[in-house]
Amino acid sequence: NSFDRMGIKDDLLRGIYAYGFEKPSAIQQRAVMPIIQGRDVIAQAQSGTGKTSMISLAVCQMVDTSTREVQALIVSPTRELASQTEKVIMAIGLHMNIQAHACIGGKSVGEDIRKLEHGVHVVSGTPGRVCDMIKRRTLRTRNIKLLILDESDEMLSRGFKDQIYDVYRYLPPELQVVLISATLPNEILEITNKFMTDPVKILV
Ligand code: AMP
Repeated sequence: NSFDRMGIKDDLLRGIYAYGFEKPSAIQQRAVMPIIQGRDVIAQAQSGTGKTSMISLAVCQMVDTSTREVQALIVSPTRELASQTEKVIMAIGLHMNIQAHACIGGKSVGEDIRKLEHGVHVVSGTPGRVCDMIKRRTLRTRNIKLLILDESDEMLSRGFKDQIYDVYRYLPPELQVVLISATLPNEILEITNKFMTDPVKILV
C-alpha cells in the first residue's frame, strides 16, 4: 500500500509527497491503477474519501506536458468542487509544469478564453460553462482522451443531464471515461451504458 508501487511518474510522486500524502486512501489504491491502464471506471464513492485527489493523480499521470492541448476534462456539479479539483491538480502536478484551468459559471468568459487560447492540459469545470466553451470552439476537444464525471448523481439532480450528453457528443470516439457517484440510480446506469466500455466497478 504505497504510492511508489503504482507506476506513477517520478515528478508526480514528488508532488504527491510534497503535498503531504504518505499512503493512498482506499479509493486511490483501487481506482488509480485501472485508470492509468486506460480502463473505464465506475467508482461509487462519497466526498471525503480522497476522490478529488484520486482524480487529480490519474489526470496528472496521463497528461503529456510536451504539448499544450486539453487532454483531460473533468465535469463537476458545483463551482467549488470544480475549483478545488483544479487546485489539487496544480498542487500535486507542480513539478511537472501542468496547466489546469477551472471553467466555471459566474466567472468572466474573457478570462476563460484567454486561458484556453494560451493553452492548458486539463479543464475542470461545471457542465454549463464547459458546454458553452466547447460550442464557442474555445475549448478544443480533439485531443481529449479522458473524461471524468464527478459526483454524477448530484449533476443529474441539479438538472445537468442534457449538458452532460451535449459535452459527450463533442468528444472523440476513442475516449476513456471515469464516472464517480455516491449512488447509482437508473439514470446513471444509462450514462454508463452509453459512454463506457466494459467498465471496472469500484465500491468504496
Ligand atoms: P478528497 O475526497 O480528495 O477531497 O479528500 C478528502 C481529504 O482527505 C482532503 O483533505 C485531502 O487532502 C485528504 N486526502 C486525500 N487523499 C489523501 C491521502 N492519500 N493521504 C492523506 N490525506 C489525503
